[in-house]
Amino acid sequence: MSELRVRFAPSPTGYLHVGGARTALFNWLLARKQGGTFILRIEDTDVERSTKESVDAILEGMQWLGLEWDEGPFYQSDCFDLYKEYVQKLLDEGKAYKCFCSGDELEKKRELAMREGRKPKYDGTCRERGDNPEAPYVVRFRAPQGGEVAFDDLIKGRIAFPAEELDDLIIQRTDGTPTYNFCVVIDDASMRISTVIRGDDHVNNTPRQIQLYQALGFPVPQFAHVPMILGSDKARLSKRHGATSVIAYRDMGFLPEALNNYLVRLGWSHGDDEIFSRDEMIQKFDISSVGRSASVFNTEKLLWLNAHYIKNGDRERLADLLLPHLSKRGVTTLGGPDLLLVVKSLQERAQTLEEMAERAVFYYNAPQAYDQAALAKFEQDHLRAVFETVAEKLSDTSAADAAGFDALFKEICAEKGWKMPQVGQPVRIALSGGTQAPGVGEIIQALGSAEAIRRIHNAAAFLDAK
Ligand code: GLU
Repeated sequence: MSELRVRFAPSPTGYLHVGGARTALFNWLLARKQGGTFILRIEDTDVERSTKESVDAILEGMQWLGLEWDEGPFYQSDCFDLYKEYVQKLLDEGKAYKCFCSGDELEKKRELAMREGRKPKYDGTCRERGDNPEAPYVVRFRAPQGGEVAFDDLIKGRIAFPAEELDDLIIQRTDGTPTYNFCVVIDDASMRISTVIRGDDHVNNTPRQIQLYQALGFPVPQFAHVPMILGSDKARLSKRHGATSVIAYRDMGFLPEALNNYLVRLGWSHGDDEIFSRDEMIQKFDISSVGRSASVFNTEKLLWLNAHYIKNGDRERLADLLLPHLSKRGVTTLGGPDLLLVVKSLQERAQTLEEMAERAVFYYNAPQAYDQAALAKFEQDHLRAVFETVAEKLSDTSAADAAGFDALFKEICAEKGWKMPQVGQPVRIALSGGTQAPGVGEIIQALGSAEAIRRIHNAAAFLDAK
């Protein structure tokens, strides 16, 4: 194990967002690359907004993506005593102080500052007060003044904030609960996090946190702030751009390797490479080559990657993954065609498992209706002749696989002087109801010739009934 210790620290106030998943992925990749440790910490100090469902949804998303953590999950809500101890330590050392200013007073000061064109900042009224009245108070950090707080961000380069811009941060609320920035520092220090990789919406928190590390005598970790993910209109990616939850992508029929591959490329590149296996990602990922600007989420590209992984995926696994998408459609595969053959016939054609399931339904449920427009392209007599001939030939043939059935269709064409589409298309409609199905040989192999003959007879009967 190297000294590298990283963490993913979601707040459980919703599902696992794709942006969060990318942050988790970057942390995980770096840990795996450097033989470090990846820690999962649930930041649930906001008791009102944190829920158990959300924790479960986050864990489920991480597990589905295969981002296994080495330590945790740790819950901040289990650590209140620890935070309290450190608040007391800072108070004892005079590095924090009790502030008795009421909310109203602070609001008035804030308004005044705004009117006078000053940055609203706590004016330090209670910094030097000697008394200790019996009144509600918050604990504020005595932020060091003068100079600047700077750090070398692994992605964004050097970032410096003038210390005078940094407020005397509240580290403990009136009700005694610690605040977010304080807990993060105590946790990152006590978990010996060496590199903090997180969304760049936290950049402004970093200098405050650095001051806290220094005041507490903790080593300051390295920081890497990952740029945001935007929607196509360049606004921060949100629900209004489409699905943002990792689990929603699973339910829409995406493969975890496709989503990981997509997310790793979002803001990071390695030459012109687009396809990365898990191992390649680990080998090639480098936090310093993450770009500085925000990236735009592109569903088309995600679909393209998903199609790639479906096309090249292991059939047994795809079949397993397809099952819930089929049962969602009321399809049971028991007693029907071999699902592996079905997957094989659709692997090249489906961009998602949802699409694959949709296209697979006809294998298990014989068509109840036919694509009229497609049938209308052929003369009725021709259709009848095709159905009759094909049914007859199928009942005689010893062919059993796609190639054998395709050869049979070639023979039929040669014998009758028909062109392949003149036979293939009507048969495809008879077997599947429409024209968007795989090759007829593949379909018949999966259905079996007896079922194929039954369906062709049904289609012929449908013509007769018209
Ligand atoms: N809990 C924070 C969030 O979900 C992350 C804090 C951090 O990574 O430092 O945005």
